Amino acid sequence: MKSFLPAVIFLFSLVVNAGAQSICGTTAYKQQMVKSDPSLIEVFRNIEEQIAAENNKTNGNFAMRDTTANEIIYIPVVIHLLYKKAAENISDAQIKSQLDVLNADFSMLNSDQANTPSAFKSLAGNARIQFCLARVDPQGHKTTGIDRKYTSQDLFTTNDEMKMADKGGAASWNSKHYLNIWVCRLSSRSLGYATPPGAAADKDGVVIAYDVFGTTGNLRAPFNKGRTATHEVGHWLGLIHMWGDTNCGDDHVDDTPKQQSYNFGCQNFPKLSNCSPDSNGDMFMNFMDFSDDACMNLFTRGQVKRMRALFAQNNIRNSFLASFACDSTLAVGGPLPTTVTHDVVQPAVPVAAAIKIYPSPVNTVTTIECKGATALTIKTLSIFNSLGMKVFTARLNQEKTRIDLTNLTRGIYIVHIGDGKDKFTTRIIKQ
Ligand SMILES: [Zn+2]
Repeated sequence: MKSFLPAVIFLFSLVVNAGAQSICGTTAYKQQMVKSDPSLIEVFRNIEEQIAAENNKTNGNFAMRDTTANEIIYIPVVIHLLYKKAAENISDAQIKSQLDVLNADFSMLNSDQANTPSAFKSLAGNARIQFCLARVDPQGHKTTGIDRKYTSQDLFTTNDEMKMADKGGAASWNSKHYLNIWVCRLSSRSLGYATPPGAAADKDGVVIAYDVFGTTGNLRAPFNKGRTATHEVGHWLGLIHMWGDTNCGDDHVDDTPKQQSYNFGCQNFPKLSNCSPDSNGDMFMNFMDFSDDACMNLFTRGQVKRMRALFAQNNIRNSFLASFACDSTLAVGGPLPTTVTHDVVQPAVPVAAAIKIYPSPVNTVTTIECKGATALTIKTLSIFNSLGMKVFTARLNQEKTRIDLTNLTRGIYIVHIGDGKDKFTTRIIKQ
């Protein structure tokens, strides 16, 4: 359901359902944010207006950069893993299992979508968003994307101390280019919380309890299918709970049925409430409800539109389209990017931060952007196919060069830029 007065409804939505706080702390956190900084109401209102303007203008089919509306958005993720006890120092495999869940859920590849009731199946939406563990850190160096740190704190709460190095936490990486996920022990029943778009840069991100993260390891059933992170990343991308955080409230999405409140456990379809618009009742299996992990299986098309609108030009997550830390090979199931090199000539301007190629995947024209000191030198661009054959060359002598790759066949290509030691290698996907 969707209101024509989102700003007004937003204020009502700050009414917290106390029973829900212990599961997802986002609503209470957002309420606290606004209480301590009332100017955020204006920030949130502006973001709502930009979402509405984008969707009104293009009905969700906007071209985000130089490519089609179907562009896959790649989000580099850094995991700040904070542990005191050995059990909290979860394995790489557990972390990767969470990335797998995010990638499935945000590309409508989750196998349990078969469980979506037929009445709602046509509403399911593919967000076309992929997540990778960051391959390049903010300094331009190689990284695993996993930042492990011993902490003296027994547990953390929604006061954000896990984001502060001097409080036993870990400082965020540039939140314009990385999704920061803090994984740690949280108090009592808390599963996680997220900052809504518009939060302070050093707080921006998602926090998840270590024992509900991923699908393998010592997990707290029934939150053992990685859906806490799916839900919280949904919040990070502007989604609101199905009931609009108040009795029969508004979630700013026009294809989700109105529902009275949250659902726990596994409900039977249909589940009707006082404000159900029709006999289909609550969409309790939506990722933005509180159902058990095994009983949630979709975002709607309307929710997808809302999330993707944040990446449109001038909107708050647009900077991710220029983030180069992903080297998207992980997201498409390819090998690790062993070809990425960062032979930095000017340490102050890491090559990875100075050279950007977008979009990837590319349909026709791609843009090579060389900023800062590296742009001062003329560079050679060479593109090789998977057999190592050079299929394209160009000279780059300006900050932005557009090249037409229409004639390349579909596949993954290696891109070399630079001369001598000052070189940069990455991959590009041709659609
Ligand atoms: Zn939530």
